[in-house]
Amino acid sequence: MMQEKTIEQAAVSTQRLYYEDSHKSEFTATVLACRAYKDKYGILLDRTSFFPEGGGQFGDTGWLCKKGEEGENAQELQTRREQKAVAVLDTQEKDGMIWHVTDLPLEAGDEVAGRLDFEKRFDRMQQHSGEHILSGIVHRLYGLDNVGFHLGEELTTLDFNGELSKDQVRTVETLANQAVFADLPVEVLYPAKEELAALEYRSKIEIEGQVRIVQIPGVDRCACCAPHVGRTGEIGLIKILSCERHRGGCRMVMVSGSRALQDYMQKQESVEAVSVALSAKQEAVAQAVLHQKEQISALREQLNRLQAASLSGQLEQIRPDQQDVCLFVEDFDMIAVRSFVNQAMERCSGLCAAFEGTEEEGYHYIIGSSRLDTRTAAKALRESFGGKGGGRPEMVQGFVCGKEQEIRALLARCAAEQTGE
Ligand SMILES: [Zn+2]
Repeated sequence: MMQEKTIEQAAVSTQRLYYEDSHKSEFTATVLACRAYKDKYGILLDRTSFFPEGGGQFGDTGWLCKKGEEGENAQELQTRREQKAVAVLDTQEKDGMIWHVTDLPLEAGDEVAGRLDFEKRFDRMQQHSGEHILSGIVHRLYGLDNVGFHLGEELTTLDFNGELSKDQVRTVETLANQAVFADLPVEVLYPAKEELAALEYRSKIEIEGQVRIVQIPGVDRCACCAPHVGRTGEIGLIKILSCERHRGGCRMVMVSGSRALQDYMQKQESVEAVSVALSAKQEAVAQAVLHQKEQISALREQLNRLQAASLSGQLEQIRPDQQDVCLFVEDFDMIAVRSFVNQAMERCSGLCAAFEGTEEEGYHYIIGSSRLDTRTAAKALRESFGGKGGGRPEMVQGFVCGKEQEIRALLARCAAEQTGE
């Protein structure tokens, strides 16, 4: 059993295989220690491909399997690994030690085979490396600094300390993808202190110890601790989804690689659906939607005119001696209904009520009166039919569910009671 001090010494000098080869998804190692880690286990290894959260990139996930339990042949190895493996749920670095956070314990001295969830890691490297290219180009062309970076599970956001126009965003996106097509190497440098002082690079903050520089020739040079793709071609398409004003600068939302493909597939599906629904060519769906919108507003105007005509017809039918008005309509604009009530109030001194809707779905109503307290009617409707409603003495509005005949009868009683008839 190693002494506590020796474990610490060994753990801070864990061999970081992800720096030697960012594509190394399988490795072997020895367990230095296994401790309680929050409500899980924390395992320290003498070497690891698991990258601990840092530089805006989440910690790796994967599996650790005790050696000798992998089985004989490749097939058996696969199944036994899946059955016997300890799941690495997260990787975190504390005081220079890399903690593999697991669901099950391992013992110090165990020889293990480690395997990354490399699909996830590669996806993150695609997003992160794409971010370097965008930030490098924005810095070089427009002198803006990346002041915030978040690599989420779905989207990546970049905050810049200045605004970018639509044209500038398009230029940045074009140049970024040209850098991908050129399949440039992503180089890692560990410059000496004097060399570093003379070097132009982004993220020039005070970093203790050796600074790791990640450079893409002619595109970006930045201090960064995370793993990246080996060549820019691996990133695949870089797509900027939006770039909007944010805290005095702008926030860019981007996806690259497999996420950009997913995004394209989803958008293609949307465009196809709209294209079929509107019988428009895919490249012309935007114009088709605008055209439909114009048609809808023209139809709405026409409908409003027809409804207004129908309601003025109703007004004409009010007899000179009539006290109360009660109108039931379906699919009418409430503005037109309110205008009807206002005009009816000028002709009749009793309750002027209008109900819009159906018996099944209920009615929105407005009741006005130049002489009576309409709140009494609203209260009676609430008490008999439920729903809601209220307002001023001269006008109430609300919603009620009931039968037309019963509502009419109730309002007639209300009016009669108030006028003492
Ligand atoms: Zn980086």
